[in-house]
Amino acid sequence: MKYDVMIIGAGPGGIFSAYELNKENPDLRIAVLEAGHPLHKRHCPIDGTIIKQCIHCKSCSIMSGFGGAGAFSDGKYNITNDFGGTLYEYIGRERAMALMHYVDAINMRYGGEGTKLYASAGTKFKKICLEHDLHLLDASIRHLGTDVNYVVLGNLYSELKDRVDFIFDNPVRRIEAEGQTYRAVTDSGDFLSEQCIVSVGRSGSKWMESVCRDLDIKTNSNRVDIGVRVELPAEVFSHLTDELYESKIVYRTQKYGDKVRTFCMNPNGAVVTENTGGIVTVNGHSYQDASKQTNNTNFALLVSKHFTEPFKDSNGYGESIAKLSNMLGGGVMVQRFGDLVRGRRSTVRRMAESFVRPTLEANPGDLSLVLPKRIMDGIIEMIYTLDKVAPGTANEDTLLYGVEVKFYNMEVVVDKHLMTRYPGLYIIGDGSGITHSLSHASASGVHAARDIIKHLSK
Ligand SMILES: Cc1cc2nc3c(=O)[nH]c(=O)nc-3n(C[C@H](O)[C@H](O)[C@H](O)COP(=O)(O)OP(=O)(O)OC[C@H]3O[C@@H](n4cnc5c(N)ncnc54)[C@H](O)[C@@H]3O)c2cc1C
Repeated sequence: MKYDVMIIGAGPGGIFSAYELNKENPDLRIAVLEAGHPLHKRHCPIDGTIIKQCIHCKSCSIMSGFGGAGAFSDGKYNITNDFGGTLYEYIGRERAMALMHYVDAINMRYGGEGTKLYASAGTKFKKICLEHDLHLLDASIRHLGTDVNYVVLGNLYSELKDRVDFIFDNPVRRIEAEGQTYRAVTDSGDFLSEQCIVSVGRSGSKWMESVCRDLDIKTNSNRVDIGVRVELPAEVFSHLTDELYESKIVYRTQKYGDKVRTFCMNPNGAVVTENTGGIVTVNGHSYQDASKQTNNTNFALLVSKHFTEPFKDSNGYGESIAKLSNMLGGGVMVQRFGDLVRGRRSTVRRMAESFVRPTLEANPGDLSLVLPKRIMDGIIEMIYTLDKVAPGTANEDTLLYGVEVKFYNMEVVVDKHLMTRYPGLYIIGDGSGITHSLSHASASGVHAARDIIKHLSK
């Protein structure tokens, strides 16, 4: 099975690579090899009644399949170089921004029109935050919402399915380099091409490491972000979320000088579980459709850990903490802020008395037995500081779910085209460790595709 271009992974990085390649040269034979299911077959079995917790499916429908980890996400496309990855370090700030706007325009054409574009730059909140040493980052935020995001993905698939060969449920086991040809070894046979884009996201991180080891491609250790998901009544943050939708706020703690940041804010959203290789962590999303909205807002509070020599395994550290939480909580654990600061666990009875109704069924417990003190102290300090700009954040009944861990792939050494030392072999998206978001991953796909088009037209 020989193709002009082979793309491994059908997340945003892979989809936008395929889109751009086909748009620029409809004659190219393109294959997309994907470990997970097609979009319409992606269903997480957790229904809240019969199946309440993760049952560790062979292919996690939340993380894998057409649309990648972003398929059931909140569909927040953050158009900024301030967070979401370091793509700009490779391709330049202006180009990175131009590509993110380009991706946004495509999303609008394929079903996203009418969705709101929020902007945090130049708002009054920046000053209010600064008064309390909180730093609001600048970004334009397109909020598609989980439902519209799904529609956009469906439309993109309809557009591409007759032009590109999608091979689902087909994990690539190995990549072999034979001169300038790449062989993707799968259970359904081998695929060959001279141009290969690898876009396997976070779920493919372990596999990516093995590919880099086999092909002797250098990697650098990356950080891991560890923390909790906060859930509180939507009114507490409504003055911020109504205007900005999401506010990325960074705070440096007085106690240790560590940076704590808000991440992935979901107004009127729901807290969800996430399964990465059998480790259950917590995340959140929200819908545009008012009938699916809740009375709560959720967001993560995360502390970054970047280890120096001799320890390199940041993800291993994050995994150990998540495993400990899974062991004590039987999955995701929830605790009232009031219980945490009093040094006692939350119980079913205390949860039942809480004014905040949790949107995720999780086991009440004690997060201080899971998170290292330094991280826990930072989160508590941040909650009290946020309380000054969003009074009510530090209420007794504010819920903390744990643990939320953001794993980052090892950063793969690539050049400004996102190409490895092997000509024609590109590593993009979250799998490269360079991007951590929908907009950056998608933009990296367009960037690599354009480089291939340039190369092939020479
Ligand atoms: C619940 C949730 C909510 C999120 N919300 C947001 C948000 O609102 N905004 C935002 O910017 N980001 C969000 N993110 C992060 C965002 O989804 C990712 O940054 C983005 O999807 C990365 O795109 P990608 O193409 O690099 O990788 P992925 O989307 O991870 O796609 C990689 C694909 O490769 C496949 N794959 C892996 N290994 C192999 C293999 N060996 N062979 C074949 N295929 C393989 C996987 O099955 C997967 O489908 C969220 C993530 C989650 C899990």
